[in-house]
Amino acid sequence: MPEETIFSKIIRKEIPAKIVYQDDRVTAFHDIAQRAPTHILIVPNKLIPTVNDVTPEDEALLGHLFVVAAQIAKERGIAESGYRLIVNVNRDGGQEVFHLHMHLLGGRPLGPMLAR
Ligand code: AMP
Repeated sequence: MPEETIFSKIIRKEIPAKIVYQDDRVTAFHDIAQRAPTHILIVPNKLIPTVNDVTPEDEALLGHLFVVAAQIAKERGIAESGYRLIVNVNRDGGQEVFHLHMHLLGGRPLGPMLAR
């Protein structure tokens, strides 16, 4: 079994977080170190450490992350202006929390995708 992270505790509401959406498959909450006016993490309730651990049975769940991301972007009024979805993987990807999650960033021009 993969080791739980702080995100499992947030999902179970054992520690506080600013949750903006939750259903039986995903939980979305504000990133504690906000890097844009909107910075929300969308996390599967199931513990999948990284994208490398994804299996075909996760396809619907991961598709649901995008549905929830689009819904949150619309609710926050940034769907038309635009936003960025990021999934970091392992060391070179800059992943810090080993519970797969999607960053939803927007509310200002985000600039080039990567520093050159
Ligand atoms: P990553 O580098 O993709 O693994 O991103 C992990 C993100 O989780 C970082 O942006 C952190 O600021 C965020 N984070 C860590 N702990 C918490 C927490 N307790 N509540 C909300 N966000 C958190």
